[in-house]
Amino acid sequence: MDYFPLFLNLHGRPVLVVGGGAVAARKIDLLRTAGARVTVGAPELLPELAALVSTGTLQWQQGEFDRNWLPHNTLVIAATDDRAVNARVARGAEALNIPVNVVDDPELSRFIVPAIVDRSPLLIAISSGGRAPVLARRVRAQLETVLDESLGRLADLAERFRGKAKQVFRSVGERRLFWEKVFDSNVPALVKAHQDADAEHAISQLLAGEAVNRSTAVTAPGQVSLVGAGPGDPGLLTINALRALQRADVIVHDQLVSQAVLDLARRDAELIDVGKKAGDHKTSQERINALLVTLARQGKKVVRLKGGDPFIFGRGGEELEQLRAHDIRFDVVPGITAALACGAYAGIPLTHREHAQSVRFVTAHCQAKTGDSSSHEPLDWPSLARDRQTLVFYMGVAQLETIRTQLQAHGRAGSTPFALIENGSRPEQRVITGTLADLPEQAAAFAVRSPALLVVGEVAALAETLHWYGQLPQQAAAKAA
Ligand code: SAH
Repeated sequence: MDYFPLFLNLHGRPVLVVGGGAVAARKIDLLRTAGARVTVGAPELLPELAALVSTGTLQWQQGEFDRNWLPHNTLVIAATDDRAVNARVARGAEALNIPVNVVDDPELSRFIVPAIVDRSPLLIAISSGGRAPVLARRVRAQLETVLDESLGRLADLAERFRGKAKQVFRSVGERRLFWEKVFDSNVPALVKAHQDADAEHAISQLLAGEAVNRSTAVTAPGQVSLVGAGPGDPGLLTINALRALQRADVIVHDQLVSQAVLDLARRDAELIDVGKKAGDHKTSQERINALLVTLARQGKKVVRLKGGDPFIFGRGGEELEQLRAHDIRFDVVPGITAALACGAYAGIPLTHREHAQSVRFVTAHCQAKTGDSSSHEPLDWPSLARDRQTLVFYMGVAQLETIRTQLQAHGRAGSTPFALIENGSRPEQRVITGTLADLPEQAAAFAVRSPALLVVGEVAALAETLHWYGQLPQQAAAKAA
């Protein structure tokens, strides 16, 4: 170990920063955040620093560096762009035994300033001992992603209960066990959801339960996170989705969720595939609802993972209604729905202003139930057939014939472009383009399979010029050639 790590309380302490440029300004900012009383020494200052001087929040020693600036400071930082000046600052500080840092110069420095992840009061410092600052910054970026923003508030909450916990639990070991239990319970999720009163109540309950009967383990009720897994590319997960996957005890997922996304789950999380087989939707859905309730009641952190966004043709709402009916806590992490992902990855700006004023997400699925075209049509074809709108059909592969016929019958031109995007955002993505009049024939020629999304509207033709991902868009003409 080349350095001794420590956190220094600088509240109200004098610190000298030599240099008046951008590097100095960043250090001054950090020092002020930590409550230090900062003096800047420099012939001239950046306007932002001068502004602080004029409001009296920053002291200014105007001029070239002078050793007389050094005494009485708790720390000194040299941040000029002149190595000779920095060296003089360092020597002077060393002579007085004042810890000194020269920015980006570990040789001249007594201490180094780490990269930090700030979830105050929780604070993480990372250092490569000055050898690879960029690497340290990368580690920092990774930690920033993994660590929830709510951690600081959780630490504050814990601090509010510290005294009480000390009264109840005399030994350090007992207290540690108690806090482990708190952080394993749904308290962190409550804090994250800004349900502060409920979080405090939960801690009080844990505390009271423990105080009354320490041999009875208090099992905090489980929690379900309804999480959108996006269309397949794991890079399209939200940071919150990734965090949920890494916290989960059990993940209940659909077939649509890609393996690449599941690979990001916590190693020892249990995976349950509830991919619905066609024809048995109702019972499966009921079974899924019951499964979620059971798992949550066992006190587990359950992630209900759905392709795309859970509220877009995902039946997420129905599952939440069940959870609420059983008084089980939940939260929702939105995902990138297939329409947005397929548009982006196929080069189709869904509302390009020259072509469309609106976009509609439509499920073609309900057509399957009526089957027979003579029966009642659940979709509002006259309004769907209107111009200057983009239609995005989910679950449409089996309904292309109906879609073509109905749209044309209600006035949409046969020359309207379409794009079929199969496996959008995945390595095997295919994009088939053509015109509405030939839609089912082209889909058949290319043997398009689910999951595939259908885009109808002038914007679909833009895939031919704006494509950038995977294979080039294919057309019937190219197929024939
Ligand atoms: N909740 C999901 C949609 C579920 S319905 C979402 O927000 O995306 C299932 C339909 O979504 C599929 O039949 C298909 O039309 C579409 N879909 C989902 N993922 C897709 C993908 N990667 N590529 C193309 N279509 C996709």
